[in-house]
Amino acid sequence: MPLRLHHIYHIFLMDMKQRNICTLKINTMKNKAIILNSRPEGKPKLSDFKFINEEIPEITNGEILLKIKYVSVDPYLRGRMSDAESYVKPFELKKVISSGVVAEVIESKTEKYKAGDFVSGLLEWKEYQQSDGNGLLKIDKKIAPLSAYLGILGMTGLTAFFGLTEIGVPKKGETIVVSGAAGAVGSIVGQIGKISGCRVVGIAGTDKKVEMLKSKFGFDDAINYKTTKNIQKDIAAVCPNGVDIYFDNVGGIISDGVHANINRLARIIVCGAISGYNDTSLKTGPRAEYFLIKKSALMQGFIVSNYADKFPEGIKQLAQWLKEGKLIYTETIAEGFDAIPQSFIDLFDGKNKGKMIVKI
Ligand code: NAP
Repeated sequence: MPLRLHHIYHIFLMDMKQRNICTLKINTMKNKAIILNSRPEGKPKLSDFKFINEEIPEITNGEILLKIKYVSVDPYLRGRMSDAESYVKPFELKKVISSGVVAEVIESKTEKYKAGDFVSGLLEWKEYQQSDGNGLLKIDKKIAPLSAYLGILGMTGLTAFFGLTEIGVPKKGETIVVSGAAGAVGSIVGQIGKISGCRVVGIAGTDKKVEMLKSKFGFDDAINYKTTKNIQKDIAAVCPNGVDIYFDNVGGIISDGVHANINRLARIIVCGAISGYNDTSLKTGPRAEYFLIKKSALMQGFIVSNYADKFPEGIKQLAQWLKEGKLIYTETIAEGFDAIPQSFIDLFDGKNKGKMIVKI
């Protein structure tokens, strides 16, 4: 039997499989999309995601065709991958996943947009998609690089800004501790803390991150939670006046160590709890009520969208600080559509410094 083209293709695929290269990465697709293949149990795996091929949609009147340029991967997406009830609907199994995205308008059938415009918004993990423009924000790359609209001028910057200023209400001379300090939210919280005249201490997972917090982001001190022998004592040592504000991105035993050091009238801002996002059962720890009562402290959770009506003023302030050089930001950028699932998984191994973004 002669060797036909599809035989050669089959042999090629087998070879790729044997070499443990995902066959899905072969770029034969017209409009690649990523669906939630299975709900992760524990830490997400690549097999929880699946690449599929779709047609590039035809747009109708009032619609735009978008090509994605930058994709934000965020820890909160882990919650949407489980079917537990939360503040946002879970992703549906076998359906395309969505997150914060910057996209270019490549065709428009509405006067509101023209080809060449850039937008940001909650969009699908799909190379091309149509939209009626609702919920999208036109963005200007003259003000800041496009990726910044997913970080410092986007959801994570706003989370840092409103969490710290609205709940923490920092006062000059106070001490702020930030967990997840070298990440997208944490690195901005620390800098806003410095702008507010506070002493700022960060907690992060590598010595390099600890060094970066002090030398690049202006933190007064920082602790590596993976190498400390006693986090409670180490926090006491770097916060000689106690902790007035704790901006918590991680929860768990790191937070237990900070809670034990809070001052009277402290504010604990519960922003995230990534240390527990992959847990399969609820963990217990020291009870919060005793230190909250003893210190007349406030502990408040929040979702950034609580402040949606103030987003324009938040973006204006962040952009102003950025322009004045009072705020800086860093990004970890992965390249290519195929890198989206792994970049998301990497968040749980602390592989990012600052905002984790995939450039398409
Ligand atoms: P990020 O901090 O940029 O990335 C996640 C970081 O978490 C990793 O780099 C890693 O840094 C750390 N981490 C991972 N596993 C950990 C563990 N088991 N224990 C301690 N640290 C761990 O992410 P982000 O986007 O800025 O989000 C930070 C937190 O804020 C997340 O919990 C997120 O869900 C939350 N958040 C909440 C809102 C809201 O509206 N409430 C909005 C945005 C984000 P290390 O190397 O330091 O471990």
